[in-house]
Amino acid sequence: NKQVIFKDYITGFPKESDMHVTTGNIKLKVPAGTKALLVKNLYLSCDPYMRILMRSQGSDLFSPYTPGSPITGFGVAKVLDSGHPDFKEGDLVWGTTGWEEYSLLTATEGLFKIQHTEVPLSYYTGILGMPGITAYAGFYEVCSPKKGEYVFVSAASGAVGQLVGQFAKLMGCYVVGSAGSKEKVELLKNKFGFDDAFNYKEEPDLNAALKRYFPEGIDIYFENVGGKMLDAVLLNMRIHGRIAVCGMISQYNLDQPEGVHNLMTIVYKTVRIEGFSVFDYYPQYSKFLDHVLAYIKDGKIKYVEDLAEGLESGPAALIGLFSGRNVGKQVVVVDHR
Ligand code: NDP
Repeated sequence: NKQVIFKDYITGFPKESDMHVTTGNIKLKVPAGTKALLVKNLYLSCDPYMRILMRSQGSDLFSPYTPGSPITGFGVAKVLDSGHPDFKEGDLVWGTTGWEEYSLLTATEGLFKIQHTEVPLSYYTGILGMPGITAYAGFYEVCSPKKGEYVFVSAASGAVGQLVGQFAKLMGCYVVGSAGSKEKVELLKNKFGFDDAFNYKEEPDLNAALKRYFPEGIDIYFENVGGKMLDAVLLNMRIHGRIAVCGMISQYNLDQPEGVHNLMTIVYKTVRIEGFSVFDYYPQYSKFLDHVLAYIKDGKIKYVEDLAEGLESGPAALIGLFSGRNVGKQVVVVDHR
């Protein structure tokens, strides 16, 4: 059983050498009398929160990784053996699994059975999985969007951002995204239909850039990055604007988070800033799935994935999130079926 092992807690930017690939043993049978599942992992998801589990404190939502054990994350897997009455051999599932070829899953809460296989299975790590519900809940529920509003999305070409922008366009909003390369900016404008997009790495003054793209200000900011971008956005919010704080990836590798200076805007412009966790919206999964599957089938939503082949490519793919190496949703392909 090939596995990606987490070595030890880290500070600063994660490196490939913080993990190593090795081969462990696993019995390809569920222990008698347990409700466990034995699964073959097919697609593994690289998600920014995984960096937070590489520090000894973990987060309020997740325990930290255990040094010397395989890292865990979201993935798509096939059930090979089941002691659980709700799952049987051959079922396809998505949820938390191990970064290894085969996993024995003892906790089945949060594991969803995959019923629609007419779309790529890897989509259940992204558009039809955790990042998908994040975009859906964050945009429709937290942002309270209205037709015609001005929407700004950061990390806009990523797993969550590309969907938020497309939901906003479908609602009739004016949407601008920021991303970290020319290629990503092109993708935002030409593939995902954003009204405009810019490379934040080439903007020495983010406040001035936002004033150029939003001369009338921003009604909705979908926050994925934090730090300097948030500070600049605060200077450009409109009255009664909303900021949905999905994540702040620019802060995940820092020992001390950067200060945010322009918080008074929240009062002057009566802005609502709200953080959210995707897990609170899991009960809406089937409603979300119907909504997004219909858009995919009608060709109204596009999804770009970055597939890294083989478990060995996992560590590089995961750390690539923090330098923006991924173009679209970063997936590790363990096996295609
Ligand atoms: P992405 O697919 O967008 O990948 C991460 C991207 O972040 C990179 O490609 C890079 O793109 C950008 N990035 C990396 N470092 C920085 C930096 N220092 N400054 C600005 N941008 C940076 O990730 P996801 O779509 O999976 O996640 C997006 C956000 O959503 C994250 O903050 C994540 O933690 C959060 N999240 C929150 C959830 C919740 O429940 N609240 C659930 C899921 C995700 P670029 O080239 O553009 O710089």
